[in-house]
Amino acid sequence: MYVFFLHLQSVITWCLICLAIGVFWGTQYLEVQPVVGNLSDITAGIVVVIDAGHGGVDPGAISASGILEKDITLAIALELEALLNRAVIYSIMVRREDADLADVAETRLSVRKHQDLERRILLAEKFDADLYVAIHANYYPMPSLSGAQSFYFATDRQGKQLAQFIQAELVRQLGPNKRVANTGDYRVLRDTTMAATLVEVGFLSNPIEADLLATASYQQQVAKAIFLGIVRFLVYRGEINHGANIGN
Ligand SMILES: [Zn+2]
Repeated sequence: MYVFFLHLQSVITWCLICLAIGVFWGTQYLEVQPVVGNLSDITAGIVVVIDAGHGGVDPGAISASGILEKDITLAIALELEALLNRAVIYSIMVRREDADLADVAETRLSVRKHQDLERRILLAEKFDADLYVAIHANYYPMPSLSGAQSFYFATDRQGKQLAQFIQAELVRQLGPNKRVANTGDYRVLRDTTMAATLVEVGFLSNPIEADLLATASYQQQVAKAIFLGIVRFLVYRGEINHGANIGN
């Protein structure tokens, strides 16, 4: 009986140690606090659309040194996809190459832009996505402006929360930045029915930030910030739903 008790005690001890290590490594990687319920329960079935802005004949903004917005947005989108997939969160890429979604034969740029945006939104609706994350880079005549900023549509309550969680991580991961999540009347925010945000990852008009945005390590940092913002939003929403279920 004594021997059995010793064994039981050591089994329990080892279980507790393993549990602690599991929780530690899990939270180390995600940098989130342990929450009520399981993270995989909260993220199960979630579909995130990753919209790499511009593409093909539409380069978006261009830095003084020739860095194209469409290349930066795609690179960050691919990094974000990798992070989401590693966390077993299903993602849909609007584009994975240097192309827009317009008809190949269409030569009128304004029609191409209209088709492109419309098809990005339709894709998200078709897959009944939960979240829509558009990635862009900013440009302003004053080269001194810098800093990443997330936007949401004024009436999209969940989009606002998503943008705020992402903004907090952009500030935390990328350094000092006084910008806050703000409203934006962008078509991909206005016409999507799911929680949507548009992240301006920095200013291509700022030579220092443009050079940073062109490096793989900074692109990974930006993607990590967006990823952590998404996870924190999902955890927050999961807790709200959990609370609502208890209340019922
Ligand atoms: Zn753009």
